[in-house]
Amino acid sequence: MAIAAYQKCINPACEAEFDTNQAIFKCPKCGDLLDIRYDWNKVEVPNKLSDFGKRWATRDNRLDFSGVWRFRNLLDFCADEYKVSIGEGQTLLQRNDKIAAAIGMDAGCVHLEYEGMNPSGSFKDNGMTAALSHAMMIGAKSCACASTGNTSAAVALYAHSCGLKCTVFIGSGRIAFGKLSQAMDYGAHTIQIAGDFDDCMKQVQDVCSELGIYLLNSLNPFRLEGQKTIMYRIMEGLNWEVPDWIVVPGGNLGNSSAFGKAFAELLELGLIKKAPKLAIINASGAKTLSYLVNDRKLTWNNGDVNMTEINALYSDYTAKNFSPRTCASAIEISRPVNLKKCLRALDTCGGAVIDVPDNEILDAKAMIGKYGLGCEPASAATIAGLKHLIADGTIDKSARVTCVLTGHVLKDSDATVNYHKDEAGEFSNPPVEVANNLDDIIKLVTG
Ligand SMILES: *Cc1c(COP(=O)(O)O)cnc(C)c1O
Ligand SMILES: [Zn+2]
Repeated sequence: MAIAAYQKCINPACEAEFDTNQAIFKCPKCGDLLDIRYDWNKVEVPNKLSDFGKRWATRDNRLDFSGVWRFRNLLDFCADEYKVSIGEGQTLLQRNDKIAAAIGMDAGCVHLEYEGMNPSGSFKDNGMTAALSHAMMIGAKSCACASTGNTSAAVALYAHSCGLKCTVFIGSGRIAFGKLSQAMDYGAHTIQIAGDFDDCMKQVQDVCSELGIYLLNSLNPFRLEGQKTIMYRIMEGLNWEVPDWIVVPGGNLGNSSAFGKAFAELLELGLIKKAPKLAIINASGAKTLSYLVNDRKLTWNNGDVNMTEINALYSDYTAKNFSPRTCASAIEISRPVNLKKCLRALDTCGGAVIDVPDNEILDAKAMIGKYGLGCEPASAATIAGLKHLIADGTIDKSARVTCVLTGHVLKDSDATVNYHKDEAGEFSNPPVEVANNLDDIIKLVTG
């Protein structure tokens, strides 16, 4: 067991390989990102994806119940005895014709994948169940992460459930209260650093390597293995068909990277014939990817990514003391750690990257709330972005599109309440005040 999986540096000029019993997270030879790779000859892969659906019949087996481990053959790096699961991935793919109509798409063409239904209320649980399983497999005793909020909530919940000590680093004043409250409630040692997410990300890497603590940011390639399953569940929701487009918000770019890897592997295995296109949406106040791809024409370039371009931008950020700003706190990131893997995903799938301003994100969020299941601001960047991509013809109105709603509506209730109280929004729905008087109340209710 676990012989089929190994770690491999993504840099084609290096390609160093390591076994999965190590927690290294960056190539010790060249410093680049690592992938989990499989020797598919040693893995039992079903002949067709729909075979995974048969595991619904045996869901009294906790691994078949899990929306991540139901697909365990495609992330076969860990023996079953180490697998940690608290019922993640019970998510819903919802067809939404009202939203389709509102943004000019045909009926049946917009689907929402609501990852808010995970145990800690965001898609991060897909990654944490995988990474914490790896942590258990290698006997880690304590773990840590930097977080804009949801990572800390998921880490705290999963670490608690498998008895690991857990420390989370958050930027001061940058976290939505719903998420902070979870980290505290699930018993994480919560450290608020005077800085933003990118500062926390740098500190946590140094702390983890100095103290030998297991790192749970999406630099951790095992996390991305779990996040691949979001794509498998979307296909499951479409009767095992591949949509035309996947739309996802882009922060640290772990999700987009994982999605690209999922489709690259399914193509390699012959389980799908073509990959969907990927639309990655930044917030305008944190648009590193959008700038680099659209304005600087940065591409994967067979792994030889133009680092001069990236370093110039980051030096400029440093010189200007730039800190990203958006109401979508989950994607308020200026130096995305998975940038190179995300460029690779765009190379595999093709697609588009755009950025959208906060007011459009909040209007889209309220529309999803009104017509869908609700979500937090970062998740709504998907619909805000899709609206542009339909309007400018990048995506056809009859294309089958799936938007990943990454986090639950209750994560950031401040954002929701503030939007609706301010009547300027397209969907503002403020509470109405009335005297404690029956006639007045009846007038209001019937008016
Ligand atoms: C983490 C997070 C994101 C960003 O995902 P990346 O994989 O870092 O790009 C988007 N939305 C929500 C709700 C998140 O928690
Ligand atoms: Zn390397």
